Amino acid sequence: MTQMMILTTATMKVMTTNSNHEDLALIIVAAGSSSRMGGIKKEYLPMNGGTVLSSSAKVFLQSLPFSKIAVTYPSQNNSIELKNSEEKCRSALFAHPSVKERSSDVIFVAGGSSRQASVFNALKEIKKHFNDSNPIVFIHDGARPFVTEEIIADAYKGALEAGAAVPGIQPVDTQNELDESGCIKRHLIRSLLTAVQTPQVFHLDQLLKAHQLAQDSGREYTDDTEIWDLFVPGGKVKVTKGNPSNKKITYKEDIDFPKEHSAMIRTGLGYDKHALVSGRKLMLGGIEIESDLGEDGHSDGDVLLHAITDALLGASGLGDIGSYFPPSDPKWKGADSKELLKTVWADVKAKGWKLGNLDCVIALEKPKFLPHRQKVIESISSVLEVNQDQIFVKAKTGEKLGDIGQRRAVEVWATCLLEK
Ligand code: MG
Repeated sequence: MTQMMILTTATMKVMTTNSNHEDLALIIVAAGSSSRMGGIKKEYLPMNGGTVLSSSAKVFLQSLPFSKIAVTYPSQNNSIELKNSEEKCRSALFAHPSVKERSSDVIFVAGGSSRQASVFNALKEIKKHFNDSNPIVFIHDGARPFVTEEIIADAYKGALEAGAAVPGIQPVDTQNELDESGCIKRHLIRSLLTAVQTPQVFHLDQLLKAHQLAQDSGREYTDDTEIWDLFVPGGKVKVTKGNPSNKKITYKEDIDFPKEHSAMIRTGLGYDKHALVSGRKLMLGGIEIESDLGEDGHSDGDVLLHAITDALLGASGLGDIGSYFPPSDPKWKGADSKELLKTVWADVKAKGWKLGNLDCVIALEKPKFLPHRQKVIESISSVLEVNQDQIFVKAKTGEKLGDIGQRRAVEVWATCLLEK
C-alpha cells in the first residue's frame, strides 16, 4: 500500500489519537442523481485542478492512513450503462494525482435506490476486506469538498470516545417545528439543536448490523446517525465540531461557491523619501548603516521600513502610514520603525492576509548598500516572521545627479503581494 502523508498539525493530532493502530475505512457517497442540480452530476464538476469528488477524497487521504476506500456511483438499468457510470466515477475520483496513487486501495460500488441503500451496499463490500477486524468507518458525501483535516480529526476522536461521531454546527436561524397546517407547533431551543454534516464515523460491524435491521424495518432513515441511534443497543453519537464552510454542494447556485475559496491576491506599492543630514543615523530595514549622513525625520527615519509599511497598508486596504501614525502625534517622535511595521503587519494579518513577497528599491548615492543587504533582508524577514526568500532589496545610485546623486536625500519604492 502506497501512502503519501503530509504532516500537518491536524494530521499529527490524528496520528496521536490513532496510537492503537485502528483499521480505517472510508466510504464516499456519490451515487445520487443530482436532481436539484438539474441533472448535472455535482461530484464530477471541475474544482482545484481536479473534481469536487477528488477534492473531497484528497483531504481524507492526507489526514489518515485509510486502508480501504469505497466510492459509490449511480446504478443503471443495464450492464453497459452501469459500466459507463462506474467509468465516469473512476475518472472523476482519480482526477487528482494524489488520489490516483491510491487506486489499488479503492473499490467502486454501485449505489442503491436511496442513500441508505448505497451506504449499505458499500458497507457490505468494505466488510469483505476486514474479515478479522472491526475497522472505524468514515462515511462522507462526495459533494462536500471543503471538509478539513481538523473536522476529520475531531470526528475520529469523537468516535473513539463515544462509538460514533458526526460533525455538527448550531443553526444560525431560529428553528421551529410545524404542525400539518404549516403553523408553528413548537419553538425549539437553538442551543440544543445541531445541523449535522459529514464525515459520520462509526465502528463497521455495529453499523453493518444496524443497517440490516434498518432495511428489514422497511423504512427510510435520514442518515446513518439515525440508524445507529435506533438500531445499535445503547448507541450514542457524539457531535463534534463542524464548520459552516463544510458545505454540501446541492443547488446550481452553490457552483460559484468554490470560487470563494480560490486564492485572493492583492498588490501594494509604497514610496518614501527622507532628507539626509549630518548628526542622524542612517537606518535601513531596522539596521544602522555606517554613514556620515542619516535620515532626518520625526521617527528614526527608516525610509525602507516606511515604504514597506505603506505597501502593506495599501495592499490590504487599511490606509496609509500617515493616518496610522500621524507625524503630529508626539508619541511617534523617535519611534522605532520596526515597531510601527510590526503594529501594521499584525493588523494586516488579522484580516487574513499572508505575504507572497516583498520587493524594494533603494535610491542612495553612498555608502554602498550591497555589503549590508543580507543583514537588512534578515532584519525585515524577522520583523514580518516570513522566509528570507520572500524579501528582496536592491539599491541604485543617483549617478551624482539630483537629490539622490548630490546626497541630499534617500528614496525607497516597495511593492508587495498579499494572498488569502
Ligand atoms: Mg518616512
